[in-house]
Amino acid sequence: MRYLIISDIHGNWEALQAVLADAGSYDQALCCGDLVGYCADPNEVVCWVRDNVKAVVRGNHDRACAGLEDLEWFNPVARAAASWTGSALTPENLVYLRSLPRGPITLDSFQILHGSPLDEDEYVASSAAAGQAAQYLEKDVAFFGHTHQQGGYLCHRNGVRRVMPPDFEKTRRVIQVEREVPYLINPGSVGQPRDGDPRAAYAIYDPEARTVEFRRTQYDILSAQSKIRDAGLPEALAERLQFGN
Ligand code: ZN
Repeated sequence: MRYLIISDIHGNWEALQAVLADAGSYDQALCCGDLVGYCADPNEVVCWVRDNVKAVVRGNHDRACAGLEDLEWFNPVARAAASWTGSALTPENLVYLRSLPRGPITLDSFQILHGSPLDEDEYVASSAAAGQAAQYLEKDVAFFGHTHQQGGYLCHRNGVRRVMPPDFEKTRRVIQVEREVPYLINPGSVGQPRDGDPRAAYAIYDPEARTVEFRRTQYDILSAQSKIRDAGLPEALAERLQFGN
């Protein structure tokens, strides 16, 4: 079985299309949340996810854009994007976003979640946070999102190690998953990477081969940026795409 694992698409249709073209064949797609918020094609992205993704957990932006969250907690740029997205979404897509489950979801041999196993809004962005989060996993392998940073953590009993994404000049990096060691793996963000690499990020997981392939692909950033500007969304959201921060 080959799983396409995507996360944090954030309404970036150009990036999602590039990921799908780059991924080649896979058996099932799974999503770790944040379908919308920030970029200007929320309906296109949600319609594609509804039709094509086997399991989805909700992200904090999905809740906010669907009116399930008090926007007071968001910074002004994220708040403006959430308001714009909420009014742009079709009624059907709003209903769909409101129906998304809170993670983790357990599939056969692994889990998917947005932030951390106990708190969907918590950022697992350090070895210490990963070591704590790993105690609450029900399977050895879990995919998460929310930080927009590709890679993850391998949580040995005697210490947590980083799992690194591909170098900037490479498009992929394959890791072999050890048995009976908890892994927290972030496929990276499709639509708004924040790890200094502006290319769209995703992962391919093969549980039988015990491999995770981290991938990066170029996409039409200029088109995504001009849609953000045409929509009247904050300029910062367009600018950051070209830097991947
Ligand atoms: Zn996100």
